[in-house]
Parts: sequence; structure tokens; C-alpha cells
Amino acid sequence: MGNNKYKILIVEDEANIRSFIKANLEISDYQVMCAETCAQGIMMHASHRPDLIILDLGLPDRDGMSLIQAVRENDTVPIIVLSARSNERDKVEALDQGANDYITKPFGTEELLARIRAVIRSHRYNEGNENIPCGKFKVKDLLIDYDKRQVYLGKDEIELTQTEYNIMSFLSIHAGKVLTYSAIIHAVWGYSDYGSVKKLQVNMKNIRKKMGVTPGEKRYIINELGVGYRMLADDGQ
Ligand code: CA
Repeated sequence: MGNNKYKILIVEDEANIRSFIKANLEISDYQVMCAETCAQGIMMHASHRPDLIILDLGLPDRDGMSLIQAVRENDTVPIIVLSARSNERDKVEALDQGANDYITKPFGTEELLARIRAVIRSHRYNEGNENIPCGKFKVKDLLIDYDKRQVYLGKDEIELTQTEYNIMSFLSIHAGKVLTYSAIIHAVWGYSDYGSVKKLQVNMKNIRKKMGVTPGEKRYIINELGVGYRMLADDGQ
């Protein structure tokens, strides 16, 4: 007991947020360690090798973004960024620097725990090094059969193009986690050019239409405006 617990490093300078997160993660049976500055966070990452990092971007010594860069030089550990900033550019920059997801303050315990589970799940899949998923994905009445490359809503098959299927498949593998436009474009087309985002949006619009989802409706896939898309996970987050 104890040493097989999932280790989470919290890097946050505000004491009350830090202890709020720590208390909630410990209740959920995670092992928690804390750092208050960017430099301390980098040191603790090197000496403790946590399984996940929760990182505040506004730290007293340096911007949290520099911790992401330092850690990514030698480690793929999942990083969830906490940000008081509602600025999309900061979120996109953090994701592009290698953060796995972000949460905007203020946030609730359930949201935090759901993000942690999604990031862990997605990281495990990547570590498995399997490019082609097998089996099935299910959330609510949506079912994706990876072996047959077919998508169903209830009993009805949704006729998707190859590209539309590839987008759905990629989002579902990382369900619960926000994926930036550039990450999706890279996974689906392998390259990006000036018109790529537009191309992705057109495909997404067609997917929604085929699934009977009206614009702005948060069913199956959530549009994170200015950032990317997130597919709902089985826990509804
Ligand atoms: Ca702060």
C-alpha cells in the first residue's frame, strides 16, 4: 500500500488553492506533493518524477510556461495547466508547448478529477504506442466500432467520409481532453497549411449535421472556441 499510488505534483503559489486541490486529490487516493514556485516545481519534477503535474501559469518567480518547456525536454508526463486567464491564446500556447489540458479558474472538484482521469487515460493510450485503436468507444448513445470503422447513434449507422471518421476516431481516443486545431489537423492530414483550420471546421460541421446536433449544442463534441474540440467522455465531462 502507498507506493503504487499515482503521484501528482501541484505547482501553485496560492496557498488556499493548493490546499483545496491537495485535500481533494488525497481523498481520491492520489499521492500529492506541492511546489510554490516554478524553480521548485522543476526541481521536484526532477527528483520525484510524478505521474502528473498540475501547473498554475502565474507563478512568482517565472511564468509556468517555462516549467512546461523544462519538463518536456526529457519527460512526457501529463501536465494540466490552471489558468485564471480566459485568454484563448495562453491556453493554445500552453497546449502547443506540451501541456495536455487546461482548466480555467475557478473550477470545481468534479471537473478537476474528470480532467485528471481523461489525461491519464489518453497518456496511457499514447504510451501503448498503438496507432490503430481496437475495440469500441461508447458515450451515451454514440458508439464507435474501431475494427469496422463504423459509427452508430443508437441502432442507426452514421455514414461518415474517411476524413470525418478519422476525426471522430482521434477525438474519441482522447475523449475528455481538449485537442487543439493543430493537433487534430496533424493527426488527420499529417500536415497543416493556411486553409487547414477551415477544412477541419467544415468537416466538423458535417459530422454534427449527420449526427443531428444543432450548432452550439454541447452533445458528443464540445467546441472550445478559439482552441479546439473535446469529445465527451463516459463520465459526461
Ligand atoms: Ca498564481
